[in-house]
Amino acid sequence: MKKQIERINQLLINHFGIPERQKKLPDPLDIIIGTILSQNTNDKNSYKAYLNLKSNINSWEDVLSLKTSQIERIIKVAGLGKQKAKAIKNLLKNLKKYHGKLSLTHLKKKSDDEVLDELILHKGIGVKTASCVLLFAFDRNVCPVDTHVHRILNRVGVVETSNPEKTFNEIKSHIPKGAAHSFHTNLLRLGREYCTPTNPKCYECPIENVCNYKEKNFTIKKLTKQNNFFLLDSIK
Ligand code: SF4
Repeated sequence: MKKQIERINQLLINHFGIPERQKKLPDPLDIIIGTILSQNTNDKNSYKAYLNLKSNINSWEDVLSLKTSQIERIIKVAGLGKQKAKAIKNLLKNLKKYHGKLSLTHLKKKSDDEVLDELILHKGIGVKTASCVLLFAFDRNVCPVDTHVHRILNRVGVVETSNPEKTFNEIKSHIPKGAAHSFHTNLLRLGREYCTPTNPKCYECPIENVCNYKEKNFTIKKLTKQNNFFLLDSIK
């Protein structure tokens, strides 16, 4: 599997290039809140919600004194406001209660699995959100698996799994050293531009020759507008 991932990663880099990264790693708490906001919506709307929230507070501490309904209103543009407001407030309350401060820096020295195990204990935080903290805030060689990544890796034949969490567990020990960020980000891009849920553009896909999908689509359709904004690489 490692060789297969290495090959796909290289083809994606040849096509899209190496995705840019910020020089300074963002704060893990910013990343986890950004990721909660990004659930089931696009990066542009979740970024708007993130900026709205940030502009209404001086520090995350201020969120603790807001009612859930107030947070919900502020982050409305990201959708699922109630659910996300509850998850954010619950996380902050737990951090205050168990660690005495609103920070996730205590996780820095823990192993990948320890970080995942601890983060998913918070209600509303799943493996995907927790793995984004590992990759984007701690620069670990971990590839978060969302629906795009899950769909592509199953179509290509890297895995044969029924949900993103199973895909994540299957691939996690097979990511070539240092490849996780480019692999993850370029797969998201491939999922938006080529390997879309319906009518994938197999006729111009950069990894078509290594893809084993049985229902490849070679009917050419007009290119749709592309969206290359990535939330978690924009949080500073
Ligand atoms: S060839 Fe088609 S199915 Fe395979 S990865 Fe590319 S777009 Fe997706």
